[in-house]
This record gives sequence, structure tokens and C-alpha cells, in this order.
Amino acid sequence: MSEAAWSGTAAYSHPQIVQEVHEDYIRAGAEIIIANTFGTARFMLEAAGLGDDFERINRDAVVAALRARDSAADHPVAIAGSMSTLPPNFDVGAYPDPDRERDAYLELAALLAEAGVDLIALEMMQDVRHASRAMEGALATGLPVMLGVSCRRHPQNDDIVCFDVPDLPLTRPLDALVGKGPSVVNIMHSELDAIVDGIGLVRDRFDGFIGVYPETGDFQAPDWNFDKSIAPETLVAHARHWVKAGARLIGGCCGTNPEHIRALKEAVPELETIMQT
Ligand SMILES: [Zn+2]
Repeated sequence: MSEAAWSGTAAYSHPQIVQEVHEDYIRAGAEIIIANTFGTARFMLEAAGLGDDFERINRDAVVAALRARDSAADHPVAIAGSMSTLPPNFDVGAYPDPDRERDAYLELAALLAEAGVDLIALEMMQDVRHASRAMEGALATGLPVMLGVSCRRHPQNDDIVCFDVPDLPLTRPLDALVGKGPSVVNIMHSELDAIVDGIGLVRDRFDGFIGVYPETGDFQAPDWNFDKSIAPETLVAHARHWVKAGARLIGGCCGTNPEHIRALKEAVPELETIMQT
């Protein structure tokens, strides 16, 4: 983890480990893996003192995923490039001006596409201004785009709100972004008990594929505490409800590991039966 750029510098410092992590997920049955580019926009890497290595870090992150697919896949695997709107140093007052911010997303998306990703995964889209700029960059590649929104229940009134912004209803980014042309809308890094309602809010606005990859456990910077993560079979139990509610792509975000993916993979025949009923 970087103090300024989340895990964005990992492909620079530990490319082999990044590749091995991808391989573990592919062997567990993952059909889409997401390259480690969540925190690698130019302005994030500049905050980490690595702006000059922007191109190398992003290429290395995609190469780690491509190599993992080459070495571990015995089934079709798509590689997504991740894009977030994390601010430099996690300080919402530190974003570059809107034009530079937009240019940074265009630059990152174009590089990911050129490096060989099959699609773009926008992740943690919440604040509509920043998310719209990121989406513009992702769509400019011409690749399929997965729009990832993140939700939880408001602690007081039970509304479904953006994960990091409890005053922002989930409907705000959905209303602003689902009409722009994503191929998939993912409820990602979201609280387990908010997801069925979140799927409903997406379905009200979107006819395409809906995905879910939740968070679980307990993050204590800079590490995730897996002791409190749900068991793989509990994830499968939740997935039954998500498929019933309309989800067609299921996975795991923070706090999940390859065992969760393996359990989901083994449950696919059952989940397909639920889909057909
Ligand atoms: Zn996550």
C-alpha cells in the first residue's frame, strides 16, 4: 500500500506478487480479473512521487494480469483495467482542476486499452462530477465499460447511500451515469445487506447486465483484517438472493479471497437454476 496512491504502486514495487495474486484468482475460477490500476491516475502517482513512472506502472500492472492469464487460465478470462476517482493523498481538496482531472482519466484509459485490457471497470463511482469525468475517459476507449457504484445503508434512516458519502443517495450517481452507455452496472465494494435494494435501484434505471462484488471484513489502514470477513459459503448464500434480484455477474471486492471465488464458481450450476426460475 502507498500512503498517497492506495495500492497503485504495487505493480512497480512487487510485480511478481501482483501476477501471483491474479493467478490465484484465475485458478479459483475467476472469469474476469481486474488489473491493479485502481490508484494509478497520473495525479495519484504524482502525489506518491512517481509521476514520471506513470506509463511504466500502468503497463506493468496490465502485463501482470496478461501474464497471469497466459500462465494460469484453462478457461476464458477477461482482463479489466480499473479506474477510480480517488483524490491525491485521499484528500478531496487536492484534485487537480477539472480539465487536468479529465485529461488524466482520458490518458489512463487510453493507456490501459493500448496495453491490452479487454474492458474498463470504473470502481467506487460516487461524487457525480468526478465520476462523470472518469466515465468520459473510459468510454472514449471504445471498450466495454463496467460502471461500478458502491453503497451501504444510511446509519439513521436506512436509505441506500454511497459507501463513502452517507449524505449522497445511490440514485444520484445512477441517474447521472447509467444513461451514458455502460455495458454493465456493478454494485461493488458494497455492504452485504444493502445490495438487494441496490440492485433494485439499478434495475429501475438500466436494462443491461448487473453485477455484484461486495466488500466484507474490516479495513484498518494499511491492512485489511480478514478475521471479520464472511465465510465463502455465506457469500454464496447472499449470491442466491442477488441472482434472484437480477444480478448476472458475481465476484468479490475487499475482504474476499480466492476461496470465496472458488465457492461461487462451484455454485454456478445452482445459481443458473435460480436465474431460470
Ligand atoms: Zn473493495
